[in-house]
Amino acid sequence: MSWQQRLDDALAARREKGQFRQRRVNEQSEARTLQIGGSRYLNFSANDYLGLSRDPDIVSAWQQGAERYGVGAGGSGHVTGYHLAQAELEQQLADWLGYPRALVFISGFAANQAVIAALLAKNDHIFADKLAHASLLEAAAMSPATLRRFAHNQPAALEKLLASPGEGETLIVTEGVFSMDGDSAPLAKLHQLSQLHGGWLMVDDAHGIGTTGEQGRGSCWQQQVKPELLVVTFGKAFGLSGAAILCEQPTADYLLQFARHLIYSTAMPPAQAFALQAALLRIQQGDDLRQRLQNNIAHFREGAQALGLDLLPSATAIQPLIVGEEHQALALAESLRQRGLWVTAIRPPTVPPGTARLRITLSAAHRADDIQQLLEGLHHASRQ
Ligand code: PMP
Repeated sequence: MSWQQRLDDALAARREKGQFRQRRVNEQSEARTLQIGGSRYLNFSANDYLGLSRDPDIVSAWQQGAERYGVGAGGSGHVTGYHLAQAELEQQLADWLGYPRALVFISGFAANQAVIAALLAKNDHIFADKLAHASLLEAAAMSPATLRRFAHNQPAALEKLLASPGEGETLIVTEGVFSMDGDSAPLAKLHQLSQLHGGWLMVDDAHGIGTTGEQGRGSCWQQQVKPELLVVTFGKAFGLSGAAILCEQPTADYLLQFARHLIYSTAMPPAQAFALQAALLRIQQGDDLRQRLQNNIAHFREGAQALGLDLLPSATAIQPLIVGEEHQALALAESLRQRGLWVTAIRPPTVPPGTARLRITLSAAHRADDIQQLLEGLHHASRQ
């Protein structure tokens, strides 16, 4: 088979299944709205949970950072790309979250891949929640360790798998708040199991950090669990992008020797790390934003329940409406669009077959009448 043939076949298969993905140009966005195809919509699809992507202090910090440091790191952190701004950010993150060390990565995807690739060896075992993010599951599948997936948020299922340990080390992998379902992991129970088996727990709290826990310290802080490896990302509540891994001193030293995504990749621009310090400060002082987000979540859930809509048990900014079949999810999203509401339909293979959904995300930036408009749109669409 030729390259051309291979690509044509894969694309045709995607089209046949109705799963062909296309990006849309976001022509102009604000904290609550976006413009696509010349039309303006209320945005219920972003991960900007606290509305910080437009925070004037953070925008101005990025500008100041660019003036101070230029626009790029100039190289890998192992060469000359590790500037004061990244070092300060790492220290602030470590102090905030109560770990000896933090290492900054350019993305959550890179952090997850790097950590799993660097730490796991032959004969090791990874036990991952079935709904863990693609970056975790892919890294686990590519590692020389054996990957086993346990039923979503079911420690009893994990316990059964753990009952027959082999030789090698054990790593249990979960998210703090699940990206597609919005529910929280039973972290205390998972940590207890990992400790019982002499293993480590890795928590990817991409969707919990900033929005929950005292000072926004996330799901682990909220549940009083300190995993051996905590991944936080900056593309959601922080409003920027990038990630950090929080860990003990020897783990950080080890990753600095063996995490190839750190060693062979240009470091995060220091101006961005400088802006991230401003975002961190806003998050630490962000009880007002978290309260607004909670009010929006409560408003939405009460309204949706009154409409008889089937919600998942999520107390977070991610409020999925499971629709079932792909075409139904697409039709619902289209109907909302006609009413000026941008909600993305999430379909297999991102979520399991038969669970196509609208992934509604709420933000502190939304106003009460935005939520009302969304509820009216859903009422209208569900009657159709
Ligand atoms: N982990 C989770 C749980 C995520 O949802 C995502 C992104 N959606 C990532 C990691 C990847 O993070 P990033 O966007 O920073 O690459």
